[in-house]
Amino acid sequence: MLSRPRSTIARAARAFATLSLAATLAVTSTVSAFAQNVPVVRDAEIEALVRDYARPIFRAAGLPEDGVDIVLVNDQSFNAFVAGSRLFINTGALMSAETPNEIIGVIAHEAGHIAGGHQQKLRNQLERAKTMAIIATLLGAGAIVAGATSKSRGLAGAGMGVAAGGGEMAQRSILAYQRTEEMTADRSAITYLNATGQSGLGMLKTFGRFQSALSLSGAQVDPYRISHPLPRERIANLEVLVKKSPHVDKVDAPALQQRHDMMRVKIAAYMGGQAAASRLMRKMPGSLASQYGDAQTSYLFGDLAGALAKANALIKAQPKNPYFQELRGDILMKANRPKAAAEAYAKAVSLDPARSGLLPVSHGQALMAVGTPDSLEKAVVQINKGLGRDRENAVGYRHLAQAYGELGNIPAADLATAEGHFYSGAYKDAKIFAMRAQMKMKRGEPGWIRAQDIINYAPSGKKK
Ligand SMILES: [Zn+2]
Repeated sequence: MLSRPRSTIARAARAFATLSLAATLAVTSTVSAFAQNVPVVRDAEIEALVRDYARPIFRAAGLPEDGVDIVLVNDQSFNAFVAGSRLFINTGALMSAETPNEIIGVIAHEAGHIAGGHQQKLRNQLERAKTMAIIATLLGAGAIVAGATSKSRGLAGAGMGVAAGGGEMAQRSILAYQRTEEMTADRSAITYLNATGQSGLGMLKTFGRFQSALSLSGAQVDPYRISHPLPRERIANLEVLVKKSPHVDKVDAPALQQRHDMMRVKIAAYMGGQAAASRLMRKMPGSLASQYGDAQTSYLFGDLAGALAKANALIKAQPKNPYFQELRGDILMKANRPKAAAEAYAKAVSLDPARSGLLPVSHGQALMAVGTPDSLEKAVVQINKGLGRDRENAVGYRHLAQAYGELGNIPAADLATAEGHFYSGAYKDAKIFAMRAQMKMKRGEPGWIRAQDIINYAPSGKKK
């Protein structure tokens, strides 16, 4: 399940399909993502995969490799950026990369910027900033560039409006790596790729394509290309370094390539609709990824019986793949069979080596839909388990609040609502609900203390 807040998925998918007809796609999709207030998409499978791409590179670069948060930005342009322990990457970048190596190369280059201390001041600001503020900055920068390029005052104006939320200062500096910094980051990237026994060809391919006049992702402007200058000699230098590496001919492991292909068909199905998914699937005929795309589109566009048969076939082919179980759960939920869905999600949770916080929340939602007091109690346990792994899952708190509410535990429901607002950055609402929760709690009990933390939180000052 690649999820925005659940109820908006179908609508957003349709909106994307419609928007892809528009000529000024980069600008409209950026702005519309904000209009829908869903700039981030969450997905256990994709987050785990990108984390697997990043981990060895971060280790080689001496960066903290554990607990790298992958933030998938819902935008079809090409962009990637690391701030603190968060790696922001646009779905458009993942879609346009044919191999894992192309994305790994970009991550290596970004790690090179960090290790080189480039834009350190900006990074320090971003490390403290909330995820949403950074995304506003990243998307806003793209919107401004696109607006300026198309010379459309109206659209540029819209971009400014969006970017203002992200802090003008950050947005200006984000557009400007020095050319010498680019060369340094390239060299460091090759060092990390060599250390992990990987080829630099993917990076060369990506940057080489940026050098041509065409956008990589099909968006009007790729923000990444604007922030990372590409003088001709840079590609020439990079080519020499890449070809000198003993690992130049190393290709991605087939299992990793397969996961990459599955990610791409999934993004295509969710973001581009049936046609986009079919286009991509035709390039990988007979593959498991193609079967996966087929199952996803059947699920998304209404053929639930067909989708279930296809998901079962996938599970037969890879019984230990947690995301096939997750898809089966999604299909069963949509088919109004919550009990069977809960079993599928439970399997997904037990098979997931990445221990995603999203899967237990899905499991909990299915248990809530079963609706017996016993299953509601179990739902609370599962959702709390998911939130324990993933504190910032604002949507998870909404489900938790509902489960507590149905059990009649109103103070706990109020506290969960407060947490949900808190992690969405709505501090005023968070405080209102935290105070409501406290009124019905014993002073000093764990829930009361957490509510007090929320009440005391000062967003512009230090944490807590
Ligand atoms: Zn760069």
